[in-house]
Amino acid sequence: MTQATMYYENDANLKLLENKTIAVLGYGSQGHAQALNLKDSGLNVIVAQRPGGDNYKKAIKDGWNPLSVAEAVKQADWVHILLPDEAQKKVWQEDIKPNIKRGAVLSFSHGFNIRFKQIVPSQDLDVIMIAPKGPGHLVRRQYEEGKGVPCLIAVEQNASGKAKELALAYAKGIGGTRCGVLETTFKEETETDLFGEQAVLCGGLVELINSGFETLVAAGYQPEIAYFECCHEVKLIVDLIFEGGFSKMNHSISDTAEYGEYTTGRRIITEQTKTEMKKILDDIQSGKFSQNWLKENQEGRSFFNKERKEVSQRTIETVGARLRAKMAWAQK
Ligand code: NDP
Ligand code: MG
Repeated sequence: MTQATMYYENDANLKLLENKTIAVLGYGSQGHAQALNLKDSGLNVIVAQRPGGDNYKKAIKDGWNPLSVAEAVKQADWVHILLPDEAQKKVWQEDIKPNIKRGAVLSFSHGFNIRFKQIVPSQDLDVIMIAPKGPGHLVRRQYEEGKGVPCLIAVEQNASGKAKELALAYAKGIGGTRCGVLETTFKEETETDLFGEQAVLCGGLVELINSGFETLVAAGYQPEIAYFECCHEVKLIVDLIFEGGFSKMNHSISDTAEYGEYTTGRRIITEQTKTEMKKILDDIQSGKFSQNWLKENQEGRSFFNKERKEVSQRTIETVGARLRAKMAWAQK
């Protein structure tokens, strides 16, 4: 296997951004974190946030003068879109495309709308991605602590001839090069991101935890015990994997647990599971998943809302909420 190049502080030059006005569109999870980090890195940042909600209040409280998307885009040499992926196409058509300067930089933190051609930018623009691999609040907190979260960069259009250097500079501005930056493509980032969240991180994990919990409860064990075993401990195990891989985890757990891992793991995650994973990946690559998701949004999210409600009403949620309330130390 070839090793990917990692980029660090000395590989990126903030000076490339000094004379640019960077508009961050959206002041949500990523928007607030990236805008504040860029500003604290000494860059010239403006924020677009529509009035009416908590994010608008937060932008004011953080000292910004929030603009409309159209106004911010008019003033900007660099437009970074941090709106929800499913909302970007409409805002692009109505407020960004008619107002963006010729030769500007257009950037994203996720490749969805470029990969699935919801947004088709004109050829004069640099089109790049800077995607922090962590939630917004962590992007901000790590930066404030002098650290950073890993970032992916990608170049889709290189009109200026400097697109990659610009992406690296932006990654530095939000703290990414303190930790490490990896180059990818819009295609790879989008497809692996969707696959990871569906098969492993969100879809897979939630159903694994819940199935274990329900199996124990149905067999008559106390729900509190089932919660600790099948949910609470997930974090402790994942922390060990995060620190030192499966080997460190196996070193730390008992030999009994490790023997159970080897005898049972592949009865749960079977060849059939892998076949299904490949089908999930096929649906992502073919655009079937993205079409379904965009259609779901156009039609008012009835499936999405029904599922969200069903999951929130599961027994594990009530039991978990009750237990977590008594573990104030775990709330950080
Ligand atoms: P959030 O939902 O947290 O924030 C979205 C922002 O966009 C809010 O300020 C919201 O304002 C505004 N907004 C929503 N709809 C519209 C609209 N129709 N017109 C104008 N403004 C609107 O989004 P995230 O920060 O989670 O995601 C932003 C991007 O970052 C996405 O591309 C996502 O894939 C990517 N990303 C997110 C990560 C994360 O950790 N969350 C991680 C890596 C990438 P209001 O409050 O008024 O609704
Ligand atoms: Mg992801």
